[in-house]
Amino acid sequence: MTAQGENLLAWTTAAITRREQLAFDALSHGRAGRWIANGATVEIAPELVGPKDDAFEQTVAFNEGAPTEEQAEHIAANDPESVLRRCTADRKLLALHGGVAHHCPVFDDDGGHDAWVAFYDHETCPVIELLAEGYGFAAGQTSPSKGDQVT
Ligand SMILES: [Zn+2]
Repeated sequence: MTAQGENLLAWTTAAITRREQLAFDALSHGRAGRWIANGATVEIAPELVGPKDDAFEQTVAFNEGAPTEEQAEHIAANDPESVLRRCTADRKLLALHGGVAHHCPVFDDDGGHDAWVAFYDHETCPVIELLAEGYGFAAGQTSPSKGDQVT
């Protein structure tokens, strides 16, 4: 794998690890990663709440001006459980497309669809670039250098 490909793969792997850590850290009481929006309040899913938990312990975010109901829905839709599912799926994509010889569809320079392009293990598959973009690596940005930090 080229240094550029290695760096992008390593950067993306580090970005996934960072998101996973944030999700684990956000688990309510270390156990409840599924949240629901209840109006403008975000709460731990009721089936995950213990019988001794009071309302305060069940609340993740509540409305004193923010979040709005729409923001609460967004927060709940991006709860730790969903983030961990996404990270697991992205790691599977990295394993399929990163650092291994394989074939993948790509768009050529004319925007046409090439359905069967071979990538050697030292080449960067566009799927890796797209995954990196999802974690904040900007298209057209210079490939990360060794040691670049994920934010
Ligand atoms: Zn690929």
